[in-house]
Amino acid sequence: MMNKDDKAVEFIRDSTVKSFNVHELRDLFPILGQHVNDKPLVYLDNAATTQKPFSVIRSLESFYERFNSNVHRALYTLGEEATQAFEDSREKARQFINASSRSEVIFTRGTTESVNLVASSFGETVVNAGDNVIVSQMEHHSNLVPWQILCEKRNAELRFIPVDSNGNLKIDSLDDLISERTRLLSVTYVSNSLGTINPVKKIIEKAHSRGVPVMIDAAQAAPHLKIDVADTDCDFLALSGHKVYGPTGIGILYGKENLLEMMPPYQSGGEMIKEVKFSGALYNELPYKFEAGTPNIADAVALKPAFEFVENTGFDMISEHENSLLLLATELLKDVEGIRIIGTSKEKVSVLSFVISGTHPYDAGALLDQMGIAVRTGFHCTQPLLQEVYGLNGTIRASFAIYNTADEVTYFADCVRRARNMLA
Ligand code: PLP
Repeated sequence: MMNKDDKAVEFIRDSTVKSFNVHELRDLFPILGQHVNDKPLVYLDNAATTQKPFSVIRSLESFYERFNSNVHRALYTLGEEATQAFEDSREKARQFINASSRSEVIFTRGTTESVNLVASSFGETVVNAGDNVIVSQMEHHSNLVPWQILCEKRNAELRFIPVDSNGNLKIDSLDDLISERTRLLSVTYVSNSLGTINPVKKIIEKAHSRGVPVMIDAAQAAPHLKIDVADTDCDFLALSGHKVYGPTGIGILYGKENLLEMMPPYQSGGEMIKEVKFSGALYNELPYKFEAGTPNIADAVALKPAFEFVENTGFDMISEHENSLLLLATELLKDVEGIRIIGTSKEKVSVLSFVISGTHPYDAGALLDQMGIAVRTGFHCTQPLLQEVYGLNGTIRASFAIYNTADEVTYFADCVRRARNMLA
């Protein structure tokens, strides 16, 4: 009989997987089988981080069991194998986002570090007093605070694309927001607290027509939508491995080569140099110029099986399954008294934020936890959006992944009803 490890390997190898059985797929995720508070775990906090399949877990183990050594420096076999695995993973990442060259794919700690890198290196090169940077009102703090700091440092202005009551960006406002002093527009592809899928291609076209480069925060898009940097023509793009079934502490920054070439290093030290003299240093070529120090090798290597898991499952299947869960959850929650859904755009991924009238999100979250359900409560790192735009003290957020089931959604809706009755 095949064990779960073998099944995971089979799944990864068989790129022709066509039929989808959620129960078989769940078997690839060891964490999902456990009980929490004496109830079967129902994990619905996938927008915060996704669980990992065996292939990713085994990749981490096998790196430390078989390949562990530093990359790019060693001439011995182990070092060459580690370097090969590290660079193979970069190549996989390049394919995953459809970049034209590996030089444009930089390993970072995740989306947060990728945005900080661009804000610091690109931002401090091009943004001066009197200039402006544009973000939207729905940004995660990671794509907001670095721009606030940059603008404060440079005496520049941070401008915001407004959000309407359904959670859609008012992109017509860009006609007025963009000026000849706009140096960059940075916007999220998908909102982590509303689920809205933003029309990034349209936004990029509008910005480019006025000569403004665009950074895309793809942290929430990458697990649900095909990322295609060539098609969207974005100038920078950031994503985090842990939201795409990969490890924590590793992510990607994509940047167009001509922009990365003109940018100064973000951090300095080993790896990012070609030659060092007492009088100064010559920087390494791309992408290494932006990868100072020993990288997070094992986690970078384990990104490859994570991307393969997503690709082999297929975005069509992911969308179909996750949309059916979102639809079911939305319909069931509408029947619960006092529920208000926050984020009702027609273009959404499987993120469902809601409030229960007369209750605090934390209380409902704590009750749901007692029932075995993991959901996120609070501001979801979008405090200005929820507080200043919607006037809320947080929401309860359920976010569905490819391994969630309709039974879990039905149980969740039933538990929300019970929680509401207990708190009301
Ligand atoms: N951007 C968005 C839209 C997010 O949802 C998140 C994480 O929740 C981030 C950025 C930050 O990602 P990380 O914490 O992996 O750097």
